[in-house]
Amino acid sequence: MPLCSSAIPSLTGRGAGLSTHPQLIDVLRRVGVDFDESMGVKLDTFIFLDRSGKTYLEAKTVRVMSSWGRLYRSLRDLLPPQSYRLGMSLRHVEQDSGVSAIFADGSRLGADLLVAADGVRSTVREQFLPQVVPNYAGYVAWRAMLDEREIPPAIRAEVFERYTFCLPEGELFLAYPVPGRNNETQVGRRAYNIVWYRPTAPDALVDLCTDAQGQYHGTAIPPPLIRPDVLAAIKATARALVAPQVAEIFCRAQPFFQPIFDLESPQIVFGRVALLGDAAFVARPHVGAGVTKAGLDAVSLADATVGQDVAAALLQYQREQQPFGRGLVALGRQEGAYLSAQLKPPDQRTAAELKRDVKDVLLSHQLRSESLRDVLAASRRVV
Ligand SMILES: Cc1cc2nc3c(=O)[nH]c(=O)nc-3n(C[C@H](O)[C@H](O)[C@H](O)COP(=O)(O)OP(=O)(O)OC[C@H]3O[C@@H](n4cnc5c(N)ncnc54)[C@H](O)[C@@H]3O)c2cc1C
Repeated sequence: MPLCSSAIPSLTGRGAGLSTHPQLIDVLRRVGVDFDESMGVKLDTFIFLDRSGKTYLEAKTVRVMSSWGRLYRSLRDLLPPQSYRLGMSLRHVEQDSGVSAIFADGSRLGADLLVAADGVRSTVREQFLPQVVPNYAGYVAWRAMLDEREIPPAIRAEVFERYTFCLPEGELFLAYPVPGRNNETQVGRRAYNIVWYRPTAPDALVDLCTDAQGQYHGTAIPPPLIRPDVLAAIKATARALVAPQVAEIFCRAQPFFQPIFDLESPQIVFGRVALLGDAAFVARPHVGAGVTKAGLDAVSLADATVGQDVAAALLQYQREQQPFGRGLVALGRQEGAYLSAQLKPPDQRTAAELKRDVKDVLLSHQLRSESLRDVLAASRRVV
């Protein structure tokens, strides 16, 4: 069955860092990807830095930080070139006794089953569930990535191999190493990834998404069009609010931002069509499990198709993965509640929304894979 993507070939270099979980490693092994040293950067320490750059909390962890590009490459390499067609933009889907995908160039592809893994802005979901739209969480993630060799040596020695937290009031700043530009994990060739969650009111988001010509780009302004004054302001804010070591790295990079959304689909199968990954459910990124969820959706769907017809397989898939998606969205909301609450007047916030406990932040990051496992187990009990 062909895989079609509107993406252009350059997406292999898309660098965003990704947390991994044992469940993702199992999925990758199952399809023949050996999760070896080249898949990510191993970390064993969390550090929390205050505004002066001093470490005030340090704890052990076991994390492997990979990247979008590294995972994409390993999966893409498994497919023969003719099975993966880039530049094919799906317009809509038609169903009769089978299912057909109709593309922007007018071409059609018929099949027994169509798997729509077309992301948070899924064209297929919009066709079947036009009323379901992404729900803005009230904050954006500023992101930045810098090559390891561009980091000043003293800063590199101090923070690079540690998962670093800064907690400006009402915000959350995370930084860690990931595979480098060419997916390399050797010392000197890695990259440093920053994700900085900042509450942003809807009208401020409109301003951030407006380019220097005054054109508004909705919630997805291409990074090169972010206005110079917006970039200068966020860099100045980094210097004012976060530890100088990581502020320096942030300011040397080309930051961009992604507004944070979540989304729940009340139904994920429609005749011979299945929604999968972010097309079906989007959890806020705090759990760091969007890619793992997409992999688990794929495994569930593949298993369901064994020994039964498409209709029965899709019903089984929906029974299994819908509670899982809902559970992950709920977990993401719980983890992001403090950030979302910053847009409420202080007298309407709960005690936990007014004051964050650093030990809770540490614990939720230490137990991420366990939380994911619990959501998965609970969803299977529902089935
Ligand atoms: C700030 C942030 C941090 C994150 N951190 C993590 C993390 O640490 N770990 C983790 O696991 N997840 C993380 N995520 C989430 C993760 O990126 C997503 O959950 C994951 O990429 C979803 O995969 P997907 O394949 O469902 O969708 P996508 O990755 O969005 O892929 C959708 C694909 O469909 C294609 N497409 C779209 N429309 C069409 C069309 N009409 N025709 C043809 N093709 C189309 C697109 O080109 C794209 O290639 C993070 C997300 C954010 C915003």
